[in-house]
Amino acid sequence: MTSESVDWLNISNKTFIVTGGGRGIGKAIVDTLLASDAKVGVIDKDVEDIETITGRLAAQSADITDVNSIEQAAEHFQSTLGLADGLVNCAGLFSPGSISEVDLSEWDRVINTNLKGALICSRTFIKQMLQKGRGSIVHISSIAAHFPQTNSGAYSASKAAILQLSKQIAVEHGANNIRSNAVCPGMIRTPLSEPFYLDDSIRTARESMTASGRIGEPEDIANAVAFLLSSRAEYVNATEMVVDGGFEATPMHLVPRPGYNAK
Ligand code: NAD
Repeated sequence: MTSESVDWLNISNKTFIVTGGGRGIGKAIVDTLLASDAKVGVIDKDVEDIETITGRLAAQSADITDVNSIEQAAEHFQSTLGLADGLVNCAGLFSPGSISEVDLSEWDRVINTNLKGALICSRTFIKQMLQKGRGSIVHISSIAAHFPQTNSGAYSASKAAILQLSKQIAVEHGANNIRSNAVCPGMIRTPLSEPFYLDDSIRTARESMTASGRIGEPEDIANAVAFLLSSRAEYVNATEMVVDGGFEATPMHLVPRPGYNAK
């Protein structure tokens, strides 16, 4: 990214909160926002590796499902970085399980984290955005919201529900100048998905299912998020941005059709 394109976003000195900013996609979002001279507050269960920068980068160890610790984090960020201009709900988790055998406490844990955690963080930071008179919230959903990710317990259901949560926030708070959008990442290489890439043949098979012919990097998602947070996306509201290298467009191409499939 050139310095000119960084300036184009015009987010310097704005304050953004990123949940799950300790690693993977969330960390890339934090780094991208910092590179644009924004101020960033990170909420993660694990913030050990984050070196805070006074007045620029603050981190709080907190579980997004714990209302009190999220409210404490919000107070801390308000006093160290100022009122929030935006929030990225990125913290999320994944747990295996088929529909007929999924452990119900695991189902609850995934819904609690991926959906209720996003609600708790949204309403906590909406209070600051109301004081500020504007705001932007970006929820990290998934292509699994559109396609059932089998044997993955509540993951797809939680990610589909986030899309509706995002729209409800947008409609309830549009009049307050607060926008809410979702990003649906495709296959992105992060610590969470790393086990899928240990075998080269599986990586190649996955790459061939994208129009772009590659697996996404966390920065691919971070760039879309930075745009949605910025005032460049002022009229983008209550929508979903799929960032998947064209994965969602490939099924017909992959259907065996003798005489029509590429050699
Ligand atoms: P990751 O596991 O590498 O990082 C997730 C971060 O969230 C970790 O730092 C973890 O400590 C934190 N976290 C988890 N639960 C938390 C909680 N209750 N409270 C506070 N922090 C918590 O995952 P990732 O691959 O970077 O995924 C980030 C988001 O993107 C998730 O919501 C995931 O569902 C979504 N996503 C990922 C992919 C992919 O291919 N990696 C694809 C689509 C969507």
